[in-house]
Amino acid sequence: MMKDQSDIPSLDKRIPGVPAIEPLIFPKLAALYARRSARLEALASRLVTDAAEDESSSAPAGEEQAGYFSFLAGLVAAQRRLLEESPLSLAQAEPVRVLLQGTKASPEVPSRQMLAEAVYWQDAFARLVAEAGVHLPPETRAGLDALVSDTSGALAEQAFLLLSGQYDRVDAGAAVFLWSALSVYWAQAIALLARETGELLHNRRSEGGACPCCGAPPSGALVLTGDREGLRYLQCSLCETRWHKVRATCSVCDATDHIDYWSFESTDAPIQGETCGDCHSYVKLFRLDRDPELEVSADDLASVALDSALEDQGFIRATLNPFSFPA
Ligand SMILES: [Zn+2]
Ligand SMILES: [Zn+2]
Repeated sequence: MMKDQSDIPSLDKRIPGVPAIEPLIFPKLAALYARRSARLEALASRLVTDAAEDESSSAPAGEEQAGYFSFLAGLVAAQRRLLEESPLSLAQAEPVRVLLQGTKASPEVPSRQMLAEAVYWQDAFARLVAEAGVHLPPETRAGLDALVSDTSGALAEQAFLLLSGQYDRVDAGAAVFLWSALSVYWAQAIALLARETGELLHNRRSEGGACPCCGAPPSGALVLTGDREGLRYLQCSLCETRWHKVRATCSVCDATDHIDYWSFESTDAPIQGETCGDCHSYVKLFRLDRDPELEVSADDLASVALDSALEDQGFIRATLNPFSFPA
C-alpha cells in the first residue's frame, strides 16, 4: 500500500449518495509543507541540470534561479519544523478569530495593533530568519537581524504593509520571510478554528476573489483529482485554505462569458492561464488531474514565462505568489 502523501484530506464518505461539493477544504499542513519543500527542491535540481546543458549566456541565470528555489525549499522546511515543534494554541489563534467575527464578506485586513500583539508570527519570523537565512548576502541578513531585534514596532508595520498590498513599501529582503511567518500563523489559526469552532468558518464565501477565511489573494487555482475529480478550487496564499469555484467562472468578477485558456504547448497542458475578457484578470490553473506533482506556489514560480505572455496580452494577474512579490 502507498502512503498517502497528499495534503488534501480525503472526502468524507460516511454519508451515502453523491457527495456534496465542500465549499472549503482545509489542508493537512505538515503534508503541504513537505510536498512544497520537496517540489521546490526538485525544481531546483531540474534548473541545475538545464543550466549544465545550456551553452548559451542564460546558463548563469538558471543557476541563480536554482539557488533561489533551494533557499525556498529550506524556508518551507523551516515552516514545517515550526508547525511540529511549536504548534499554535487556540489562545494564540484568538486574534484571528476576532477578525472573523461579525463579518459576512472577506475578513478585514488586520490592524497594526493586532499584528503587534500577536507574538506567535513574530517568533516564527525570528526562527525562520535564523534557520533559513544563513546563506543570504550579509546586507540582506543585516536587514533581517535588525527587524528581529527591533522593539519599535517596525516588524508589525512591515507586516501590515505587506498584508495590505503595499508591496513597494516593504523591505524586499524581508518580504518572503514576513509572509512565511504570517502564513504559518494564519494557516494554523484557520485550521484550528475550523476544527474547534466550526460554524465560524462555514458558509463563508469569497468576494472579489479574496480568501473567505483571511481575505488574502489566492496563489492559484487547482483542478483536483481522485474523489474530487475535475472540481476547481482556489488556494489561499496566506492561510492555504482552498475554496470551491465553479469552473470557467472568473474568480474575480464571476463572469462566465469570455473565459479563455492559454498555454504554450498543447491544449492539454498541466498549467494554463485562465483569462476573463470582462475584467481582464487572469489566474493560473494547476491541473492536478494532468500532473499530480504540481504544487501551486512552487510551480507558479517555475512558470513565470506564462505570466509574461498573458501580461503582454493586457491581462492583470489576480493571484499572489508569496515567493515573488510585485515590485
Ligand atoms: Zn486565506
Ligand atoms: Zn472577470
